[in-house]
Amino acid sequence: MGNQVKSNKVRMAEWRAKYPERDKASQHQRYLKYLAENRCPQCKQPNDSYPITICVACRAKKKELAQRRRSQEANKKRTRRRARREAILEHYGRCCVFCGSTESLELDHINNDGREHREQLGGASDRTYSWVIKNAFPATFQVLCQPCNYNKFRGSAQSLGPAT
Ligand SMILES: [Zn+2]
Ligand SMILES: [Zn+2]
Repeated sequence: MGNQVKSNKVRMAEWRAKYPERDKASQHQRYLKYLAENRCPQCKQPNDSYPITICVACRAKKKELAQRRRSQEANKKRTRRRARREAILEHYGRCCVFCGSTESLELDHINNDGREHREQLGGASDRTYSWVIKNAFPATFQVLCQPCNYNKFRGSAQSLGPAT
């Protein structure tokens, strides 16, 4: 038992792990070699689509892969966002605490410090969701419908006027 038993593939992988810089350099050498031979560095097939380095087919494949990965990422993100919203509504209720509406629900900072909080967290309302979940659903939040939230905001904006 020894080195002879190891397949070339395994030995290549070991060598790559051991000499990452040299591996990079030799990868680049291979790449240049294929280009010099007018072959696609990806599929190694003859490639006449100069000056494009990889062939049209590989380029299309690469593009498709990138697109698929992007849409998978977006899907995952959407799923996570939905799950967070679900958790929020599950905890704070699925209707507006003012009027009972179940449409266009929003998470409201009861003390109206939502804007500062959002700015602290860096903008997106989704970050507020994450924060609320991470902080075990603080009692300083409630669910309002969009119109009630707007009215509340206007009301509190007025009450911020000169003290009487
Ligand atoms: Zn190719
Ligand atoms: Zn409402």
